[in-house]
Amino acid sequence: MAEEMHVNPQRAKQLIENLSHVNKIIQTANKSGKSIRLIAVSKLKPAIDILALHQPPASHLHFGENYYQELLEKSQLLPRSIHWHFIGALQTNKCKPLAEQIPNLFCVSSVDISKKADALEKGRKALVEDSKRAENGGQSKDMPPLRVLVQVNTSGEESKSGVEPSDTVSLCAHIREKCPHLRLAGLMTIGAIARSQATTAETENEDFVVLRETRDKVVKELGIAAEELELSMGMSSDYEGAIAQGSDEVRVGTTIFGERPAKKDAKVKEDVEEEKG
Ligand SMILES: *Cc1c(COP(=O)(O)O)cnc(C)c1O
Repeated sequence: MAEEMHVNPQRAKQLIENLSHVNKIIQTANKSGKSIRLIAVSKLKPAIDILALHQPPASHLHFGENYYQELLEKSQLLPRSIHWHFIGALQTNKCKPLAEQIPNLFCVSSVDISKKADALEKGRKALVEDSKRAENGGQSKDMPPLRVLVQVNTSGEESKSGVEPSDTVSLCAHIREKCPHLRLAGLMTIGAIARSQATTAETENEDFVVLRETRDKVVKELGIAAEELELSMGMSSDYEGAIAQGSDEVRVGTTIFGERPAKKDAKVKEDVEEEKG
């Protein structure tokens, strides 16, 4: 449990500095006045790094993970007060357990086909029913629907996951009509690396333009308010530009936690001292 983990003060200090640096850049880039969510992307990093940012003084809430097994382990090890985001490629057979086994899963950012939405729906429904049973008719409040984002392949690259922009409206409609335990919270894109590297606060990133246009089409065709659908776009290399283009949520990993180890070398329970450089 979290109490048994020992945060290295030097590592904690570095992480907190990195986080506050990113928060400052977000504040400066944000001319809209709306609040922008920062997801600290902690994939392949040890649980202790997350604890260092979740506990005071940083008290950061939102963390993003890419792998089901790793997220499951971390969620069992770390405080329930964390808001987890699953941002990685989703396997259909992992959708139901993901939604069912992690009560503090805040959002799944990578829904790209209706079958995955259906499996998440089943998992969340089972979790809600479980928690009702556990309450025994008590008065603790109902679990809200699980937030999901539809991942859009804005760059047209075959290697990228995500639904085609032209198929996005129907997937969004499916989630809203057929999945009562899910809440369509917005659209997400990763985008092409080249476009991301070329993005500055001054130049527009074509992927972000496409995502915004796709959102506008969805809200128009489904008759929902634009504020209801967030845009999740922007990572370490391009979050400043993404904010200038209207992002509501950025997902930043490397700039906060440093370079990631290879997947085979990653450890959830790793002391910072033992981390290889
Ligand atoms: C890993 C990852 C990120 C973070 O990338 P950095 O370049 O390390 O900031 C953001 N979004 C998704 C979907 C990712 O997989």
